[in-house]
Amino acid sequence: MTSQSPGSTLWKWPQDRMEKVDACPVCGGEDAVTLEEGLVDYMSKPASGPWSMNKCRLCGVAYLSPRPDRASISQAYINYYTHTSEKDDLVHRYLRSIKSVLSEKYFAVVSGSGSMVDRIVYLVIKLLFPLSLYFDAKSRHIFNLKKQPGKLLDIGCGNGEFLKFAEHYGWQAVGVDFDTEAVKEARSGGLDARLGDIDVIDSGERYDYITLSHVVEHVYDPVELLRTCYGLLNHGGVLWLETPNIESMGYAYYKSNWRGLEPPRHIMLFNMKSLDEILLKVGFQMIEQENHGLSGVYMGLSSERILSKSDPCKSRLKCIVRKARKLLRVMSLEIVQLSSKRRREFLTVSATR
Ligand SMILES: [Zn+2]
Repeated sequence: MTSQSPGSTLWKWPQDRMEKVDACPVCGGEDAVTLEEGLVDYMSKPASGPWSMNKCRLCGVAYLSPRPDRASISQAYINYYTHTSEKDDLVHRYLRSIKSVLSEKYFAVVSGSGSMVDRIVYLVIKLLFPLSLYFDAKSRHIFNLKKQPGKLLDIGCGNGEFLKFAEHYGWQAVGVDFDTEAVKEARSGGLDARLGDIDVIDSGERYDYITLSHVVEHVYDPVELLRTCYGLLNHGGVLWLETPNIESMGYAYYKSNWRGLEPPRHIMLFNMKSLDEILLKVGFQMIEQENHGLSGVYMGLSSERILSKSDPCKSRLKCIVRKARKLLRVMSLEIVQLSSKRRREFLTVSATR
């Protein structure tokens, strides 16, 4: 697949590998409005596009149409350059080691085994509450469960970073991922990572906690996936899920440059109402919205990077003005997402069977 549109720098997905979506892939409704046109995948090299998104008037789900078919979607991950690159300069390495020390002390206390120094650090982090909300979300709220750690399944486990975390705190963790290299890396660390999608899990297995971190927006049939998760949970078990929120303040600000759109890898995006409805429909009893601290900062900075690619500033003055606005926008996104559930950047949900 190497077609390049004449007179354009955009890489065009081959027409015979695209499918039009006539009805909402979640509720089946046929009444939809065009939400976005001319979207560009700036996170791929070469950038692909233009992509369009519709929004279902019935359930509020936004979906890509036309979209790559199931046989060709893997191409979108091969060219996805942020998939493998993590900034590795001195500043970023230093920041990562500080974060690692702080989170170790924070979780030592959360898991009930901290020293006096750990407790002091914990209290400071609690006072800087967006940071404690950030750490809680990184733990996927496993410490909220008032039971002994049991069996955990992470769908889309990547190289097993979260499996390792969960095992450290006593969980028996299993992961699945379709990325061969990532699964190999997880296995080399002694983790139980299986290659493929949720179907590689035997339907007779039962789990106490299942996590789907930024997965549902990538799948063609999210309702079926959630139904399968429900079937794999013990009674009282919890499904933890996180996905970008199409009703977030970040989308309202940045529109086509919002980081959460990510076409064509994100084939659908939910709002709080649509996600709640699906979870209830597949049988979950209790649905709780959690907060992901600093997600406004993360999504704001990432969206600003996309904005600078789609609309590079042409004069020095414009660059200075944009930098000042960037700081204000990123800070206001964080304030909004801390104060309004509906407008958060991510929908972070714990649903109990
Ligand atoms: Zn719908």
